[in-house]
Amino acid sequence: METTILIVEDEEKIARFLELELKHEGYQVLKAVSGREGLSIAESGQADLVVLDVMLPELNGFEVLRRLRKTSDVPVIMLTARDEVMDKVAGLDGGADDYMTKPFAIEELLARIRLIFKKRAGTVSKEENIFAFGALEMNLARHEVRYGSDVVELTPREFDLLKVLLENKNIVVSRDTLTEKVCGYDYLGETNVIDVYVRYLRSKLDDVYNVKIIQTVRGVGYCIRE
Ligand code: CA
Repeated sequence: METTILIVEDEEKIARFLELELKHEGYQVLKAVSGREGLSIAESGQADLVVLDVMLPELNGFEVLRRLRKTSDVPVIMLTARDEVMDKVAGLDGGADDYMTKPFAIEELLARIRLIFKKRAGTVSKEENIFAFGALEMNLARHEVRYGSDVVELTPREFDLLKVLLENKNIVVSRDTLTEKVCGYDYLGETNVIDVYVRYLRSKLDDVYNVKIIQTVRGVGYCIRE
């Protein structure tokens, strides 16, 4: 069965771009250019997921979501303008499944859409089995790391290092802690072992996808943060 995604977005260029990318991924696409139109299509149950912009004519995205939630639990990803932090809060409180800040990387949106479908399908049993950071996704149950749709091959130690950093998102983890968690508490080898693994991870992620995932905190350790 084909999966249908509804795009509610009045900005023609963005809507067209999303439509092309989603179709390329094999989704069927419906489009609405106003809140009222989006709400009526979403309420009709034709869409399996809704990508909903906040700034819309007639009804804004929050109002659409609020009304839609009275009759439907279809997954909704809200699109908000940069730095509209209140929008994030209101969006999640209002029953959105996720939100994206414009401008966003299409790979990140696609990754979040896949994740929502996996959760809904029950192929992901527990939410805590998956760590996501941007388009990066770590599935513990499958012991698998993906960037967008690519599977990234990691050695066990690279995997463990990335896991510790993702588990502690936005927290700086010291080299000592990382060494203990990745190499064991009785590790007696080179003291710069973590720096070496960070370098390997960067060569497999940052260099390939032109992103900066692991940050160095000088004299302390490493961190993955938003
Ligand atoms: Ca808009």
